[in-house]
Amino acid sequence: MAHVLVLVDHEHGTPSPGLPELIAAASRLGEPVAVLAHEPSDPVDTDAVGSAGAATVALAAIPGADSLLVGPAVAALEAAWEAVGDVAAVITSTATDSREAAARLAARRGGGFFTDVVDLKVDQGVLTVTQQAFGGAYTVVSEATRGVPVITLRGNSIQDAMAAVAAPAMLTLQVGVDPARSAEVTARHEREVATDRPPLTSADVVVSGGRGLGSADGFRLVDALADALGAATGASRAAVDAGYCDPGMQVGQTGVTVTPDLYIALGISGAIQHLAGMQNAKTIVAVNSDPGAPIFEIADFGVVGDAFTIVPRLVEAIKARRG
Ligand code: FAD
Repeated sequence: MAHVLVLVDHEHGTPSPGLPELIAAASRLGEPVAVLAHEPSDPVDTDAVGSAGAATVALAAIPGADSLLVGPAVAALEAAWEAVGDVAAVITSTATDSREAAARLAARRGGGFFTDVVDLKVDQGVLTVTQQAFGGAYTVVSEATRGVPVITLRGNSIQDAMAAVAAPAMLTLQVGVDPARSAEVTARHEREVATDRPPLTSADVVVSGGRGLGSADGFRLVDALADALGAATGASRAAVDAGYCDPGMQVGQTGVTVTPDLYIALGISGAIQHLAGMQNAKTIVAVNSDPGAPIFEIADFGVVGDAFTIVPRLVEAIKARRG
C-alpha cells in the first residue's frame, strides 16, 4: 500500500488535537506515516501519535526545529519521503506554518497543491479532493494532473474513526537544516489572553458580533451571551476594524474558520467573506434587524429584531433555565 505523509503539528513534542483527523484522512488514501520535526531536547509523545492511529512515526530531531520557521518541517517531510518511498499524498493541517511547509514541498516536488480541503477520497485509483470556493458558494472537486498531491485539510471536515496503534513503527530521520539559509525566530512574545472561554477554533458554541452592535460597549452583548452559554467569542471583520474587539476574534476569509455545533451571529450582515469562515457550523442562529440580511439565507434560525432588545432577554432565559 502506498504511504501518505502526515505533518504533525505539535507543542514541544505533544501533538495538536487535530492529529487524529489528519491521520484518518490519510488512511483513506494509503498507509499514514506521521512526520514530526522537533527540537532534540523535546521528548516526543509517540503514544499520542500512535493513539491517533499512525502505524509509523518518523521523527526528525533538528536543532532549531522551533526557531527556523518552516525549513525543518519541509526537510523532515522530504527525508520521510525518501525513507518510505511510494508516497501517494502528503497531508497537513491549515495552521499557518504547516500550510507554508506544504506549499514549499509541493513546489519542490512538482505536485498539485490543494488548500483548505474539506473532503477527499480515492475512487477507482483516482485521488480527488473537495474544496469550497468563493466563500462556499461553489464546491470544487479536483484531481492533481501531475506529481504527488500535497493537501492541507480544513479542521473538523472528516469524522472517520481510527483505531489506536499500540506500538507504532519508529523511523529516525537524519535531517540537517542550514540555519544560514533559513529565517529564524529570535524572540517570541505571547499575547496575554485574559479569558477562560474555550478557544475560538475548537469551541462547540461560538457567539459572534458585527458592526450592528455599534461600539465596543455594545459588543459586550456578545460577551454576555457567550458567558451564559459557555461559548467562545468571534467577530466580523467590520467589528474588528472598528475596534470593537480583539483582531484574533475575526471569523472569515481573512480570519479564522470555525465549525462549531452552534454559531450565533449578532448584528452581522452575512457577507460572503464572513460566511467563508462559519458556514459549516452545524446550526446557525442569526439576530439581525434587517429581514433582508444575507445571513438569513444560511441561518437555521433567524430572529429579525434589535439585538439589544433580544439578547438580554435570551441571556435571562438561559440563566433561568440553567438555574
Ligand atoms: P455590516 O455588513 O455593516 O452589517 C451589520 C449588520 O448589523 C447589518 O446587517 C444590520 O442590519 C445589522 N444591525 C444593525 N443594527 C442592528 C441591531 N441593533 N440589532 C441587530 N442587527 C443590527 N469580513 C469578515 O467578517 N471576515 C473576514 O475574514 C473578511 N475578509 C474579507 C476579505 C476581503 C478581501 C474583503 C474585501 C472583505 C472581507 N471581509 C471580511 C469584510 C466583509 O466583506 C464585510 O464587510 C464584513 O463581514 C461586514 O461585517 P458586518 O456584517 O459586521 O457589518
